[in-house]
Amino acid sequence: MFDFEGQTIIITGGTRGIGKGISEAFLKAGARVITTYSTNESAAARFKRDNEQFAGSLDVRKFDVTGYEEVEEFFRYIETEYGSFEVLVNNAGIRKDSVLAMMKESDWHDVMNVNLTGIFYMCKLAVMSLMRKRYGRIINIGSVMERYAFEGQANYAASKAGLVALTRSLSKEVATRGITVNCVSPGFITTELIHDLPDKLREAYLARIPLKRFGEPEEVAACVLFLASREASYVTGSLLEVAGGL
Ligand code: NDP
Repeated sequence: MFDFEGQTIIITGGTRGIGKGISEAFLKAGARVITTYSTNESAAARFKRDNEQFAGSLDVRKFDVTGYEEVEEFFRYIETEYGSFEVLVNNAGIRKDSVLAMMKESDWHDVMNVNLTGIFYMCKLAVMSLMRKRYGRIINIGSVMERYAFEGQANYAASKAGLVALTRSLSKEVATRGITVNCVSPGFITTELIHDLPDKLREAYLARIPLKRFGEPEEVAACVLFLASREASYVTGSLLEVAGGL
């Protein structure tokens, strides 16, 4: 669809789920891809095996986006190994659902730390490098839950709503430097993140989706590639929902 030959792309949480779909779409579009994960070694190894044909343009790194020093070290590595990069996709995210009155304090902080603070760290360090380059694309993966805020997801919905605000604010700060910052908000996408949905709830959600099915990681990836392309030069501070009409 789009040509990313010669471009270097960073994707967090890119070895499984939606991130895997995004990493593979960029690889197929000719990019050099640095994809990251935090703990799941077997998924990372499987991802590497599945993409052996792209070994020359694929780098899989392990670090936790919630650790500022780890994020700093990652960007030092990027500078040393690659000099610079063109695109950052902040995809890593978690959910730890429960009704607010029963929510563990640690579940609140864990979700905020990965889904919001981790993206702040990644953006802060990425922007320094992209500003020097006077070109860049940042795409943050949100969720339609920032708008729907279903019960049991106060932490998740609040983190994703915060991410939209971060996206809009940052987009204004860096617009004159040739950097665009946008948000892609998926609806229900078939990944491990929603494997634990009880059947009854799954049926209820499906009934509410006009397209009557959950989406696939590749369908999110296609939208990310558009926003990451040079062609999307006049789109910034925007939110693109990929949710089957939900
Ligand atoms: P998965 O659970 O399948 O994958 C999550 C990814 O994030 C994994 O690669 C995981 O690494 C990584 N990750 C988790 N915590 C950290 C951390 N602290 N530091 C670095 N990486 C981390 O999730 P999905 O693919 O389903 O979701 C991807 C994004 O899409 C998330 O932001 C999610 O909120 C959003 N989304 C998903 C929807 C869905 O229906 N699936 C709907 C709406 C939004 P590791 O493999 O090591 O665990």
